[in-house]
Amino acid sequence: MARRDDKQTRLTCSFCGKAQDDVRKLIAGPTVYICDECVALCSDIVDDQAGRTSLRIDRSHVVPPVEIKDVLDQYVIGQERAKKTLAVAVHNHYKRIGATRSRDVELEKSNILLIGPTGSGKTLLAQTLARTLDVPFTIVDATNLTEAGYVGEDVENILVSLLQAADQDIERAQRGIIYIDEIDKIARKSENPSITRDVSGQGVQQALLKMVEGTIAHIPPKGGRKHPQQDFIKIDTTNILFVCGGAFSGLEDIVRQRVGRRGMGFNADPHSRENSTDELLAGLEPEDLLKYGLIPEFVGRLPVVATLHELDEDALVQILTEPKNALIKQYQKLFRMDGVELTFEDEALRAVAHAALDQKCGARGLRSILENAMLQIMYDAPGDESLTEIVISEGVVTLSEEPRRIRKTTAESA
Ligand code: ADP
Repeated sequence: MARRDDKQTRLTCSFCGKAQDDVRKLIAGPTVYICDECVALCSDIVDDQAGRTSLRIDRSHVVPPVEIKDVLDQYVIGQERAKKTLAVAVHNHYKRIGATRSRDVELEKSNILLIGPTGSGKTLLAQTLARTLDVPFTIVDATNLTEAGYVGEDVENILVSLLQAADQDIERAQRGIIYIDEIDKIARKSENPSITRDVSGQGVQQALLKMVEGTIAHIPPKGGRKHPQQDFIKIDTTNILFVCGGAFSGLEDIVRQRVGRRGMGFNADPHSRENSTDELLAGLEPEDLLKYGLIPEFVGRLPVVATLHELDEDALVQILTEPKNALIKQYQKLFRMDGVELTFEDEALRAVAHAALDQKCGARGLRSILENAMLQIMYDAPGDESLTEIVISEGVVTLSEEPRRIRKTTAESA
C-alpha cells in the first residue's frame, strides 16, 4: 500500500511523532494516537512507580525484611507467616554475607525448609525471593539426585545450573539461591538406620549435606561428567542460600503422636483429629523431622522452618486475579492486544477455584482449568474484527456454555 504522506490523512503517534507505517501498531483514542513503542515505555514507567519488584542487594545495604515481604506480597497470596519467616531469614542471610569479614561472632548460615502441600506456593516463594533480590536462582528436584557414583544426577550438578543462571559469573553464583524441591522424598524410609540400608534417601541427604553447610565444590567447566584431566571450576557454597521444600504428607500425624504422648493433661488425644494440620505443624519440632526420615545433620542445617497451609477457595480466586502476573490479568492482556475486553463473572472465577480444589493440586491446577475453558475463544477471537468484549460465565468454565461475544454495532463498524 502506498504511504499516505498527505498531512491530512497521515496518522502519527501523538507522543513520539512516529508515523503509522513506522510502528507496529497505532492505537486511536478519541482525539489522540499512541504507538506500541510508547505504550511499552509508559508501561515500564508505571511499573517502576507502582512498586519496586527488584531490590538489589549490596554490601552496604541489606534490604529490610519489611521491604522483602512487600515485594513477596505482590506475587504470593496468603501464607503470611511463611512470607515473614522467609523475609527475616533472607535479610539475616545477606547481612551475614556482609559481615563475614568481622570475625568476632560467627553468624551461621540459615538455610530454609518450606513445608506445605502441593501448589501452595513454596517454589513461587523461593523464585520470587531470588527475583526480588536479583540473585541467580535454580530449582532442582531431590528425587533426581543421587550419591556420587550412582546413575543419576550428581549433587554438584545443582551448582552447574546455578552457574548457568548466573551467566557463568562465579561470584554471582556464590550468592545465589537454590531451591531443592521434593526434599521429603529423600527421607529415610525406616526410622532406624541400621535396619534398612536405604541407599537412595539417606545417601542423597549425606551428599547434599556438605554443599548445604558450605564447602568448596569442584564442578566440570560445562557440566556433564567429571574427567580426571579436566580443570574444575571451584564454587564456594558458603554464601549460597538453600531453600528446601516438600509436602511432607503424614508429618502432622507424627506431631500429633508426639503431642499426644507428652501432652497428658493438656487436652491432647493422640487420635483426635481436632487439631488442624496447620496447628499441628505450627508446633513442629526437629525431632518430628528426624522421625519422618531426615538425618539429624541435615535437619541441623535447615534451622529456619516455615509451614504453608492449603489454599482455600477464596485464596484461589485471589490468586487468579490479584498477583502482579495473575492468570486473569495475563489473559486480559492477550485479548487487549487484539482490542478485545475480556471479563470474567465472579461465578466463573469461583468455578475455576472449585475445580482446582477438586484436583487437590492447590493453585497448580488453575492454569490448565482456565486453558481448557478458554481454548475455543482463544482459537477463534483473534482476527474477528467486530469483537469488542468477551464475557466468561460459570458455564464456560464447566464447558456447558459458550462465552458471550459482544460486537461493534453495525453503525460503528461501518
Ligand atoms: P509448590 O508449593 O508445589 O511448590 P508452586 O509454588 O510451584 O507450588 O505453585 C504452583 C503455581 O501455583 C505457581 O506458579 C503459582 O502460579 C500458583 N500459586 C501457588 N501458590 C500461590 C500463592 N500462595 N499465591 C499466588 N500464586 C500461587
